[in-house]
Amino acid sequence: MSSIHPLKLFPVKKVFFFPLIFVTVTLVVECSVAGVDMRYSIWSIVNQALKGNRGWTPVWREPEPKLHYDIVIIGGGGHGLATAFYLASRYGMTNIAVLEKGWIGSGNIGRNTTIVRSNYLLDGNEPFYEQSLKLWEGLEKDLNYNAMMSQRGIINLYHSDAQRDAFIRRGNAMRLHGADAKLLNKNELQKMCSFLDFENARFPIMGGLLQPRAGTARHDAVAWGYARGADQRGVDIIQNCEVTDFIIKNGTCTGVRTSRGKIQADKIGVAVAGSTSRVMAKAGLRLPIESHVLQAFVSEGLKPVIPGVITFGAGHFYISQSDKGGLVFGGDIDGYNSYAQRGNLPVFEDVCEGGMAIMPMIGRARVLRNWGGIMDMSMDGSPIIDKTPIAQLYLNAGWCYGGFKATPASGLCFAHLLARGEPHKVATKLRLDRFQRGAMLDERGAGAQPNLH
Ligand SMILES: Cc1cc2nc3c(=O)[nH]c(=O)nc-3n(C[C@H](O)[C@H](O)[C@H](O)COP(=O)(O)OP(=O)(O)OC[C@H]3O[C@@H](n4cnc5c(N)ncnc54)[C@H](O)[C@@H]3O)c2cc1C
Repeated sequence: MSSIHPLKLFPVKKVFFFPLIFVTVTLVVECSVAGVDMRYSIWSIVNQALKGNRGWTPVWREPEPKLHYDIVIIGGGGHGLATAFYLASRYGMTNIAVLEKGWIGSGNIGRNTTIVRSNYLLDGNEPFYEQSLKLWEGLEKDLNYNAMMSQRGIINLYHSDAQRDAFIRRGNAMRLHGADAKLLNKNELQKMCSFLDFENARFPIMGGLLQPRAGTARHDAVAWGYARGADQRGVDIIQNCEVTDFIIKNGTCTGVRTSRGKIQADKIGVAVAGSTSRVMAKAGLRLPIESHVLQAFVSEGLKPVIPGVITFGAGHFYISQSDKGGLVFGGDIDGYNSYAQRGNLPVFEDVCEGGMAIMPMIGRARVLRNWGGIMDMSMDGSPIIDKTPIAQLYLNAGWCYGGFKATPASGLCFAHLLARGEPHKVATKLRLDRFQRGAMLDERGAGAQPNLH
């Protein structure tokens, strides 16, 4: 039998044949590396494109709640979903339900300004946030999901010698914990951000503290990615299921009552962010937490101008630019206690003044959208991941307006606490009783004043 050369059998020119083999081998390798789930591989995208994108299946199941779970997590925000994901992926626990009163992404996880960073000062905080940033760096691979993590850097502007010295201290503390930090003088900053007002600003811009590995991630994709990852490992994500009460017998929490019936569990983890005080009141616990509104603002799409995240050092204003070109910015909390997911105009004006003070050019951009979220402001500005005085009831709260960046580490540390019964090594200081012991983690040195954190 005479052998036929493949190039003769298939009339493909050599010039196409070798790239074709290369692409095929790459895809096969990609398939085997990515493992279980290939729904977002290049193959599936090409395949779906050819079918008019009509073959995609729901990203997670909609199961009916079971009567009993090993662990129930209340709150399907970023932290609750990340906790479920790490419980399943790192601690091998899958008989878990995440109970969400609304829909996935309806809370702060889908409302924040997407800033991710680890530029903290205190020993109790910096290792935790640096752990989080490391998890962010591998998140898309962990989840096989595009969370649009973009490490474009953050620059905190300084406007006085004293502020520069405080930033030098913070930068050194960050570097001692293995994070990255670089102090920029005025000339270096001017090269990176020529649009800042270096001439006439009321608070002269003298330089900035840069964290190059900081940046932004697409907030709702983070929720969807964690939800999908948890669901694939067997976690039940139950939407439209509001927890209305706790079942507590002899000081031990054994389950919850919900709008979809009673659910028993060996352990219950609460991760409801802005609703923490309301939910924990049902267990009879009063916490050192107040709920406040924080707003976000987005402008019309503009050509790329802001290289990363920039924060004002003499007022409260932070800004980045989304991939669609919108300027995404925010500032202070509204300043009154509220559970409303919308804010008021005085803070809108204050935030815009902050922006105009450092980059007057944004005065020409039109704001397209704004919204509000409920912040769980702790009395020292730092979070709580701990057991509660009620046995088998655990708490994840106090994220103020910095909980998005914390999502991966918060999930990992809460999962560790739920699975092992002891704090993760980077969360040993995030204890509930620190307020009783006077061991506050007051990052800003502002005291028990939520509006100053
Ligand atoms: C405008 C704005 C800008 C922000 N910007 C940033 C930023 O740039 N960087 C940063 O790091 N952080 C930022 N944050 C903070 C960050 O978004 C939050 O700290 C973080 O998302 C809170 O955790 P979560 O995702 O679990 O919260 P959520 O998404 O709010 O999740 C809590 C969930 O619990 C559910 N729930 C409440 N009560 C019940 C109940 N009884 N039963 C069942 N479910 C219940 C809620 O419906 C909600 O979905 C910002 C927040 C806002 C509002």
